[in-house]
Amino acid sequence: MAKDPDKLLSEVEEKLKFLSLLGVEFVTRESSVLSLEEIILNCQKCPLAQTRTHVVPGDGNLNAELMFIGEAPGRDEDMQGRPFVGRAGQLLTKIIHAMKFQRDEVYITNIVKCRPPSNRNPHGTEIASCKDYLLAQIELINPKVIVTLGKVAADLFIRSSLGMTALRGDFHNFDNIKVMPTFHPSYLIRNEGNKNLKKMVWEDMKKVMAFLGKK
Ligand code: SF4
Repeated sequence: MAKDPDKLLSEVEEKLKFLSLLGVEFVTRESSVLSLEEIILNCQKCPLAQTRTHVVPGDGNLNAELMFIGEAPGRDEDMQGRPFVGRAGQLLTKIIHAMKFQRDEVYITNIVKCRPPSNRNPHGTEIASCKDYLLAQIELINPKVIVTLGKVAADLFIRSSLGMTALRGDFHNFDNIKVMPTFHPSYLIRNEGNKNLKKMVWEDMKKVMAFLGKK
């Protein structure tokens, strides 16, 4: 039987508070992220639970200073239960390496953790059902910078009617975390001939590198 996600989430929060009181910061973060993953893996909160093959909670370094957030798992991710492992994932990995990070040094996840059928955009109700998981991941991992990939991910952090071209290029603030919106790698693949898009993404990533002291 599926566990009650809300109950489990509050259990994670209680555990986090308790261990924080004991001053066990690293154990708190690691064990809490793993507990949260377990909750997500059992989630039935929205209709995407009925059509998914695997839940894709996220992947990477639980102490990451840099977090990438896309919109939803695609077909390859749904098959493997890992984020960004298809063609767009390979391009994201290249971008991460160009930024002088290894993939296992950053944390990668999506706004929704289950694949929408036929890779459609997630519905607002699905995002609303799933977003607390993402917010809990951000709170636990506490990165210095979040890079949002594509408009759906940007919309969760930045209230704006502007399109991606106007929105990208500058940091926004989410609590004490810098948020850099940029284009989704799958958009770059779909517009392979448009060199200007790649240039813009690289300009955005150079700003992130400079902020994080990467040369
Ligand atoms: S998309 Fe999110 S809220 Fe919906 S079933 Fe999957 S984990 Fe649960």
